Amino acid sequence: MSLKSVEDHWNRLKNASSTSFLKRNMTELIFKELKDKRTFFNGTLLDCIKGGCVNLDSGCGIYASDPEAYDVFSGIFFPVIKDYHKVGTVSHPNPDFGDIDNLGFGDLDPSGRYISSTRVRVGRSQAGFPFHPTAKLHDRVELESRAMEALQAFSGELEGTYYPLSEMSSTKQKELTEEHYLFLQENRFLGDAHVYDEWPVGRGIFYNPDKTFLVWVNEEDHFRFISMQQGSDLEAVYKRLVLALRSVEEKSSVKFAHHPQLGYLTYCPSNLGTTLRASVHINIPCLASQPYFHEFLEKHHLQVRGVNGVHTEMVGDVYDISNKRRLGMTEIQIVREMIVGVQAVLAEEQRLDGSLTKSDGVQFEGNIAA
Ligand code: ADP
Ligand code: MG
Repeated sequence: MSLKSVEDHWNRLKNASSTSFLKRNMTELIFKELKDKRTFFNGTLLDCIKGGCVNLDSGCGIYASDPEAYDVFSGIFFPVIKDYHKVGTVSHPNPDFGDIDNLGFGDLDPSGRYISSTRVRVGRSQAGFPFHPTAKLHDRVELESRAMEALQAFSGELEGTYYPLSEMSSTKQKELTEEHYLFLQENRFLGDAHVYDEWPVGRGIFYNPDKTFLVWVNEEDHFRFISMQQGSDLEAVYKRLVLALRSVEEKSSVKFAHHPQLGYLTYCPSNLGTTLRASVHINIPCLASQPYFHEFLEKHHLQVRGVNGVHTEMVGDVYDISNKRRLGMTEIQIVREMIVGVQAVLAEEQRLDGSLTKSDGVQFEGNIAA
């Protein structure tokens, strides 16, 4: 397969069977309107759709070459965004993380029988910087040095150390990845979409000694801020993340790219708005074996991934279940939607495994209403 021009790429996707959001929303007319446009960073339509045309099994199939791509190529991005996030108009409210001292989430699974760990992450981009397809080596290096400055400002529980990937042994990288802390350079969807260009320059990971707060630098996004811990205390996990974001905004020169309609801008259109993904690793053998499993998750606006992350195989009966929507709602609304969804998953699993009536069943505390 020798694909060179943007026409070659689009023709391949156009003539193939694919359920990607790119394929579903691109038309000949849109293609013609956009194919010769360029962003300030010289980003092209090909930069955005290459991965999705090479990998016909892509989910989204389109990434932003740089923050401006969302506007320059809005003819395709906006339909994809509406379709993915299931919104009629593309708009996003101001950030609202809720009153973090009065969340009342409670513990999702006090019995500890189903949920083994909980994680909340957001993606962020440095305003005015290109994304992978248009980034030059000096951009990656500059971004990393700004990140290091911001990371040094953390205090208390958030304090930690930055480890550049270029200085980390492959054994250590593998170990951190298997423990669910680090990313690997193994995802063909990301690889074909330029995410691994000039790897490992500018890439690294920061974490506190307990590994409950982590930051990925220059992986898919400029920044991924991650809070996680064993068990199901989502309230503690969420609060830690919010405090970390406040620290970056208040104590460093990093400025997050933000769009009036799209919220926080990141590389993937599935990950705009709040960019928040709140997940649990959850053991649900009974529900997972039901034919209606995926429909059930969809109904509750949940997404399922393999236990080793996006695009990984399902292993055993433990799944990564998280909110699917990230745009058009505030952070606190999205987390509450995820809680309601996980509550439904747990109740269904208990109904199926026969434990619903037992006194040690999962109970939800606090106020989870939106
Ligand atoms: P992201 O949306 O943050 O990019 P990925 O699907 O790429 O997430 O997964 C990144 C890593 O995070 C993987 O190792 C995955 O197993 C881990 N992970 C995700 N959710 C949880 C969780 N609730 N508990 C522990 N690890 C998790
Ligand atoms: Mg990822």
